[in-house]
Amino acid sequence: MPQIERDCPSCSGTASYSFNDAVTDGCLRWSGVLCCDVCKNPLQDDCYGFLPMDLRGVELETNGTWGINLTPNGGGTSSILKVLRSTLNLNMPAAKAYLGYLPGPLGMWTKAEAQWLAQKFEAAHIAAVPVRVEA
Ligand SMILES: [Zn+2]
Repeated sequence: MPQIERDCPSCSGTASYSFNDAVTDGCLRWSGVLCCDVCKNPLQDDCYGFLPMDLRGVELETNGTWGINLTPNGGGTSSILKVLRSTLNLNMPAAKAYLGYLPGPLGMWTKAEAQWLAQKFEAAHIAAVPVRVEA
């Protein structure tokens, strides 16, 4: 689990913050626990959606960047666009930008994000396998 140092909001001491993202019941979630050595004040985050940008960068550094190998079904790219738009709440130009990744692994995600998106593609009958694309 990635870990960073943060200022404790209670005593301003230096605290360690451990966090991770995961897929739970088809939802992308992330959680974090702050442990302060000084005041021992525990603080817990438990949220839906993507990791905040700063934490996401640390997660990518720790567990690598992931893409998704897609095997398009009969619907071709239009069925891929449909999944991207509905899952990521994208407009058509933003969704189409992802097609530039094909035929290679689609996107640059955390491992959990790639697993989450792969489930959405699979639900739309598009074979999808998360693959690590960068160290
Ligand atoms: Zn503290």
